[in-house]
Amino acid sequence: MNSAIVTTTTGRAPVPNEGHLLAALRDLMPRRATPLNLDEALQIAERQAGRLRRELGLHSTPALPTSIVGALPFVRVTHEPQLPAPGLLLGTDLGWVIALNAEDIHARQRFTTLHELKHLLDDPFVTGAQLDPLAERVCNHFAACALMPRGLIKRDWGNRIQHPATLAKRYAVSLQAMTIRLRTIGLVTPLRRGDRPDLNAAELRQLATKLRRAWQPPAGSVPITEAS
Ligand SMILES: [Zn+2]
Repeated sequence: MNSAIVTTTTGRAPVPNEGHLLAALRDLMPRRATPLNLDEALQIAERQAGRLRRELGLHSTPALPTSIVGALPFVRVTHEPQLPAPGLLLGTDLGWVIALNAEDIHARQRFTTLHELKHLLDDPFVTGAQLDPLAERVCNHFAACALMPRGLIKRDWGNRIQHPATLAKRYAVSLQAMTIRLRTIGLVTPLRRGDRPDLNAAELRQLATKLRRAWQPPAGSVPITEAS
């Protein structure tokens, strides 16, 4: 996501009121000198997202009420028209501010809230450039895991709630975000290349069977064999 972190002073802004939740989530980061590789960072992001839901007592609610983020003691959330990015995290001497682009659709603002929260969590561990594409991926993964927990999605899937559009509505996320999440969890087989239609697993299997016929020789043709 094309968002930015801004601090009002050089170095990290002093942030008071960093509560128990913040400490609990940051404690899931390993204390070590060597940087995390991408897989580790993604796994930790998923663990933090699960912990966030548990700490908030919302581990079994499909649509996480993201407004709860603005009620946390260490951060305020504002909605700004014409923000030059989906979201922005600002460290001020009073505390953190997450600014959301008020013109984005609701589902995107919800995703951006969690994305920026992950930047906030990671702030003490960030040393290098601020617009790190891997960090953006990790923040997106955190948001996806917080909004669409693996366990809940799998339970729904088992209960035959499998259509991506239905699930997107249930979790109040965009269809694109849900489609990516279903592929990440492994419930939907990714097509290898090209367009990815909005189909559930059964529909996708049916289509794949039909398209596979393109490789079958027409009836009556002589099969090509390798020279012996
Ligand atoms: Zn970001």
